[in-house]
Amino acid sequence: MNFNSAVESKNQQVFLPVLEEKKVELFIKREDLIHPYVSGNKFRKLKYNLQEAKKLKKKALFTYGGAFSNHIVATAVAGKIAGFKTFGIIRGDELGKKLEQTLEENATLREAHKNGMKFQFVSREQYRQKLSFGFVEKMKNKWGDFYVIPEGGTNCLAVDGCEEILNKEDSEFNYICSAVGTGGTISGLINASKKNQKIIGFPALKGNFLSEEIKKYVGRKKNWSLQKAYHFGGYAKYDEELITFINNFTAETGILLDPIYTGKMLFGILDLVKKDTFSEGTKILAIHTGGIQGIQGINHQLENKNQELINVL
Ligand SMILES: *Cc1c(COP(=O)(O)O)cnc(C)c1O
Repeated sequence: MNFNSAVESKNQQVFLPVLEEKKVELFIKREDLIHPYVSGNKFRKLKYNLQEAKKLKKKALFTYGGAFSNHIVATAVAGKIAGFKTFGIIRGDELGKKLEQTLEENATLREAHKNGMKFQFVSREQYRQKLSFGFVEKMKNKWGDFYVIPEGGTNCLAVDGCEEILNKEDSEFNYICSAVGTGGTISGLINASKKNQKIIGFPALKGNFLSEEIKKYVGRKKNWSLQKAYHFGGYAKYDEELITFINNFTAETGILLDPIYTGKMLFGILDLVKKDTFSEGTKILAIHTGGIQGIQGINHQLENKNQELINVL
């Protein structure tokens, strides 16, 4: 993987009975194949941040996340590849008290650790105050100077990187769809879109703050909307219907989805197709933003609850 050259993912058409019935074409941009751990939009979001950190002669990267965060593991692996030390503030102080067991059970943190990331586990209370000046200063005293990458990796440089997800040929699509977490990825897609295209975001979490976040990055562009009915109860929440949907989708298309982001987006897209939201002949491009590394952790939870697991190929 190279952070200095252009990366383009292929668009793969998927064939499902409902698409055929409604005469809608659906393509998936396979950003998930960029790297097993620096997948999809996390590669895009890190690219210019890593270049900036190099320019500033920083030797280390500092960031935050939950215990299954795609962003944490992506930063650890990308940092290692690009020659940075990496530090991660992880939500959940209980995880640090039994680190060996945590690393054994949690593939995300294990991979980050293997790639040299140093962790500081903090309580949920402390995590909320993570951006306070006092906390960051304390960590600098402990670890030395570093470049700060925000939670989820979203900032202006991240949005610049996400603008590179789309290429010239993608202007033929009527709709471009993406899962939404912090809003950085969809902002890049909106900025790179043509006026006659519509961008639909599928938030993976509840709340009304996202539109304001996105507006900060996309200026006056108005060709976008959020479909807020597909968060399945909130961030990292899912149910058996979603897991079954993901397993059926994988069986029919050969494409894996995660239940945090891309599974919810595709559930939403196909539900909208079913409800005749798109006219005949519509061409949709859905961005597969990655996140496959998280499936192992979810399956661990499902196993403990004695529920249907996500089938991995
Ligand atoms: C982080 C992530 C997102 C959300 O991206 P934002 O830029 O935060 O909106 C979507 N999909 C996957 C797989 C992710 O890891």
